[in-house]
Amino acid sequence: MKDGRAQVLVLHAGGTIGMVQGHEGFGPSDGFLATYLASMPELTRADMPEHTLSVLEPLLDSADMAPDDWVRIAGVIAARYAEFDGFVVVHGTDTMAYTASALSFLLPGLGKPVVLTGSQLSLTDPRSDGREHLVTSILLAGTTGLAEVCIYFAQRLLRGNRAQKVHNDRFAAFDSGNFPALAHAGTVIEVRHSLAIPPGTGLLQRVELPHRPEVAALRIFPGIRAGLIEKVIEAPLEGLVLETYGAGNAPGRDAAFLGALERATKRGVVVVNCSQCHGGRVRQGLYQTSSALARVGVISGHDMTPEAALTKLYCLLASGLDVRTVRAQMEQDLAGELTPLQR
Ligand code: ASP
Repeated sequence: MKDGRAQVLVLHAGGTIGMVQGHEGFGPSDGFLATYLASMPELTRADMPEHTLSVLEPLLDSADMAPDDWVRIAGVIAARYAEFDGFVVVHGTDTMAYTASALSFLLPGLGKPVVLTGSQLSLTDPRSDGREHLVTSILLAGTTGLAEVCIYFAQRLLRGNRAQKVHNDRFAAFDSGNFPALAHAGTVIEVRHSLAIPPGTGLLQRVELPHRPEVAALRIFPGIRAGLIEKVIEAPLEGLVLETYGAGNAPGRDAAFLGALERATKRGVVVVNCSQCHGGRVRQGLYQTSSALARVGVISGHDMTPEAALTKLYCLLASGLDVRTVRAQMEQDLAGELTPLQR
């Protein structure tokens, strides 16, 4: 807070919002967002938080992002945490749900809002959704005090590790199948504080990962063969998100398929069962086809999104925990990403 105005760091990582069209399609453009933000009178008003722009170079299409980029973004937030009341990360939509999930695991103790946003149409388009996303995200980051990583898109603030990109041309590109919106930004902004994660210690550790694990996701499909599983689970793979049907089902009569998974879990690969469905939860044991997975050592991803499961697996393995602990923590709620089973 400076002169009564909240301070927000806007971290530009890339994405359509700040892209311009070139001859091979849209691509990031250096300096474009800075010029655009400087031209927005609504951002200099006394009733808006004050913002500072920081650019993560090189700007990326989020399809080009990898775990090191999550770590870089988390590192900037941790390094500048004390200076600001909230953070906005301007990011591409394609992998925004992965980055938001990863940040929720990389920033334990978070006590301030981190809001990821972007847009479906570049700010070069007169119908761009980016302008409102920037204004509202800066407002939400500066004023709500929510202690979590969120995505703001199409008038809704979603928990980042519960969100998924569900559409590539509608403005409402994100949804959260297993958790309600944390805020609705209509003519009035309604924040549902009762749903929010309680503030952490507010002390962020330096983001350092001693190890860069190999993790993968595999979507089950009718006719999938054991040979494919064998190839995917080869060393050095340490973690696998198996995207299964419905309530967590996969072929249960194919002994070779199950044998391949069993060899993986016996070798110490953490295999997590997440549903391909956008909503609902995995219930291993509800059908014989999921009991078979449990029998070969696959653990339940409960109601986590595959994005949350993959990034969680990455962060846990990267921090050097042993396999038993990783398996146990994958089934626990660490950052609001999972609803534990009520027994
Ligand atoms: N490919 C773009 C990106 O993810 C899409 C977008 O931002 O909407 O960076």
